[in-house]
Amino acid sequence: MPEGAIAVTGSSRGIGAAIAVELAARGFTVACLSRAGGLPANAPAGGRYICVRCDVTDEASMRDAFARIGKEAGTLRGLVNNADVHRETDSANLATADFEDLMRTNATSVMMVSREAYPHLTAAGGGRIVNIGSFFDRIGVARNLAYCASKAAVGAITRCLAAEWARDGITVMNVAPGYIETDLNRDTLRDEKFRRWLKGRSPAGRPGTPEEVARLVASLFGEDIAFLTGETIYIDGGQAMAL
Ligand code: NDP
Repeated sequence: MPEGAIAVTGSSRGIGAAIAVELAARGFTVACLSRAGGLPANAPAGGRYICVRCDVTDEASMRDAFARIGKEAGTLRGLVNNADVHRETDSANLATADFEDLMRTNATSVMMVSREAYPHLTAAGGGRIVNIGSFFDRIGVARNLAYCASKAAVGAITRCLAAEWARDGITVMNVAPGYIETDLNRDTLRDEKFRRWLKGRSPAGRPGTPEEVARLVASLFGEDIAFLTGETIYIDGGQAMAL
């Protein structure tokens, strides 16, 4: 059994839940961080989970979470920064407070949670951080200014932390999904008009699944390739790179 725990933020549902379940299936102890502090949705019995209440916009709650993980798992071996919010607004009407609020949950939190995890990872002799970005980080999407900016920031944070923390044996990667079908967007993504549009627009011709993203993230922990750091891996069926 691999030593120590991997913390996953926003693991209550969607992609975060799938990542937590996949890591547990591969024998890792998973610290599941969400505001309610429950098990991942659809978690099969038998995985080793530590359920921790944590709001990624609240530094005190993060410190408490890592202290609890340390107590229960001994060491921290990795972190997945997955929690997010997604809101659409016309840019002409985007309130500064709403922009800053989304940036705090999606980007500032990645800096804060990584910083709070750092002493625990270094105490364990190093580890891996995987951030969950989005293919929206390199395209322009109407009514998505704040979300796109937040995900571009996640790519930049990934590169800077990778450059700075390599000497501590910490690697940092950014996994950037395309359209992924989750409970929240299932109706939209299954809409006939959207399906037809995606079929013409994306080489894969379909949305991805949370399990596909989860397998990529888990493989980064499973393979543990120390020379791989600072990169963004797009998992979007080729959508953003195709004409
Ligand atoms: P969901 O909306 O389904 O889940 C978001 C998760 O984040 C929930 O578990 C929620 O937990 C948690 N969360 C939100 N705010 C906070 C907070 N302040 N503190 C702690 N946890 C919080 O998102 P998805 O599964 O769809 O997305 C997961 C990641 O994948 C995100 O980073 C997203 O940007 C990215 N992504 C998703 C795509 C998609 O098509 N689904 C496409 C590209 C990227 P709770 O409310 O229980 O606290």
